[in-house]
Amino acid sequence: MSHVGYDVLIIGGGHAGIEAAWAAANLGARTAMVTFRRDAIGRLSCNPAIGGIGKGQMVREIDALGGLMGRITDQAGIQFRMLNRRKGPAVWAPRAQADREIYASTARRFLEDCPNLTILEGGVESIDARPHGNGRGARCVTGVTLADGAFIASPTVIVTSGTFLGALMHCGESQVPGGRHGEAAAIGLSGSLRSLGLELGRLKTGTPPRLLRSTVDFGRLDEQPGDARPTPFSFLTERITQPQVCCHVTWTNARVHELIRANLHRAPMYSGQIESRGPRYCPSIEDKVVRFADKDRHQIFLEPEGYDSERIYVNGISTSLPRDVQRQMIAMIEGLERATIAQWGYAVEYDFVPPEQIDASLMTKRVRGLFLAGQINGTSGYEEAAGQGLVAGINAARLVAGDDPIVLGRDEAYVGVMIDDLVTRGVTEPYRMFTSRAEHRLHLRYDNADARLTPLGRRIGLVADVRWARFQERKSRAERLLRAFDSLRFEGRSVREWLRRPNEDGRRLAERFEELSAYYTDPDIWARALVEVKYDGYIQRQQREIKRCREFEAHRIPSDFDYGSIPNLRREAIDRWSAVLPRNIGQAARTSGIHPTDVTLLMVQLAAKERLVSP
Ligand SMILES: Cc1cc2nc3c(=O)[nH]c(=O)nc-3n(C[C@H](O)[C@H](O)[C@H](O)COP(=O)(O)OP(=O)(O)OC[C@H]3O[C@@H](n4cnc5c(N)ncnc54)[C@H](O)[C@@H]3O)c2cc1C
Repeated sequence: MSHVGYDVLIIGGGHAGIEAAWAAANLGARTAMVTFRRDAIGRLSCNPAIGGIGKGQMVREIDALGGLMGRITDQAGIQFRMLNRRKGPAVWAPRAQADREIYASTARRFLEDCPNLTILEGGVESIDARPHGNGRGARCVTGVTLADGAFIASPTVIVTSGTFLGALMHCGESQVPGGRHGEAAAIGLSGSLRSLGLELGRLKTGTPPRLLRSTVDFGRLDEQPGDARPTPFSFLTERITQPQVCCHVTWTNARVHELIRANLHRAPMYSGQIESRGPRYCPSIEDKVVRFADKDRHQIFLEPEGYDSERIYVNGISTSLPRDVQRQMIAMIEGLERATIAQWGYAVEYDFVPPEQIDASLMTKRVRGLFLAGQINGTSGYEEAAGQGLVAGINAARLVAGDDPIVLGRDEAYVGVMIDDLVTRGVTEPYRMFTSRAEHRLHLRYDNADARLTPLGRRIGLVADVRWARFQERKSRAERLLRAFDSLRFEGRSVREWLRRPNEDGRRLAERFEELSAYYTDPDIWARALVEVKYDGYIQRQQREIKRCREFEAHRIPSDFDYGSIPNLRREAIDRWSAVLPRNIGQAARTSGIHPTDVTLLMVQLAAKERLVSP
């Protein structure tokens, strides 16, 4: 049996797949999403939460470009919090708890209503390719074959297989094939990727147990409410109107740590049953007890999985210890003494494709038309996956249309920082975003994501008229506010001068001047203007640095450049650059394993070549 052909075919309906499908279809490509289960599209495999430090900024960037994650979260959010509020608006980061069911059904509805998009249920067994015209062993994609033997033709395929490739779930001594709780693994696809010449590696990640809500004694625990005025993720959402819920906080204790230490030999990570690397920054409770041996307790957040859900996510004790140990551990924690476990914690090991094998458009270097996005590239997290999915969807559609790919710069977006890190430095453990990864983080703020990216989204055709009108309205409001800061005077000084003073948030000025009060109640606009005033000097310095970096990035390296021809270049530098194929000097300098002297030799050689070809 054969299906009609498509322009872009996406394997997977997770967070990368959703954005890829949405972007490609909205750019006019005939798009298909093939995924194991339609009812599992948009499933939050682990934590029922979106955003956080570094991640919340990426959700805003996805939204600013015309993506979906922010819009879904605004509809599904049950508790919104702006993190880092005490540290000043330059580092604020939005986060929301989501209702797991509403999140998935909202994502599915967006896709089902999306023109140009067909959703097909099925498992992809292989990716088909033929030799590519330019020789040198290169190939190009022709389509995919499903488990039932059906072939679907498409010149571009985006693989977003998440934690499912060759996946094995571990809970204590038990090992069961499966991509996540209750879902089968993808078995054939790894072999197909290998036969296309891609090298695969193995990573692992883990999740905590879930508890029955009615069996937790919340009365003894501290409450953690959300913000009184929730800040939406999407620039399209005016207000969050749905009711907000509370989370609760509890702690591990010395008895729990003792129990874990006594059972470490039964934890798959320590018994040798799992050899692959897990995320250092989302460690399991057994990792925390070993690595932070001096700590006598670790914080736990009890997060409801939804308004009507009976399940509580136990954030902070991800574990793959055996069930009997999990049961004893829960019973030792305050408030959970009588709690019933609704789902056991477990770890999953899966295949990934070391990302130096893709370029910054997210297309594989070996197979033209084959793109990879999300956890398959060695990342961890919904937002990281979504950011890559969006870029892959855009670039697959652009490839079909004969347009150049878009590449987001490190100075434009956290998504750009992430992709550059992946393709330039590779990964040795699951990669997650942190603000410290970005050298221009004062510029990459949540509040100005639209200023940074919506014009690009508009130019490539992903930003529709409504979003564009909103963007322009916001822009002119922000400009009017900044002008008011200069023109209004109070006790002999301009408002701008007052706002520059430390600890001055402008509240009393807003109360005094009608021209300001309307903006003060719009925290988005106010926060943005306030940052621009308070950090003016730093922002200008950062702009100068960005300009210098851009000059470096503008120095392009031909894609067929022979690194072996550089006299005296170290073997390691030749190998690293020949694998990564940096686009420019900036990327070459950031490549892992490269020394400053290697870069100097490269620049000398490029300059000599340029002199040879110039008249
Ligand atoms: C046990 C566990 C622990 C986790 N721990 C963390 C954590 O510590 N920190 C964190 O940030 N995130 C964690 N995650 C989150 C997380 O799942 C991902 O980071 C995120 O969901 C990745 O998105 P994705 O789109 O790449 O893949 P996924 O959301 O995994 O989606 C993959 C999709 O591909 C489909 N698929 C796969 N293969 C095929 C095929 N051959 N044919 C058809 N369809 C296919 C699947 O059905 C699914 O729809 C964890 C997930 C699990 C399962």
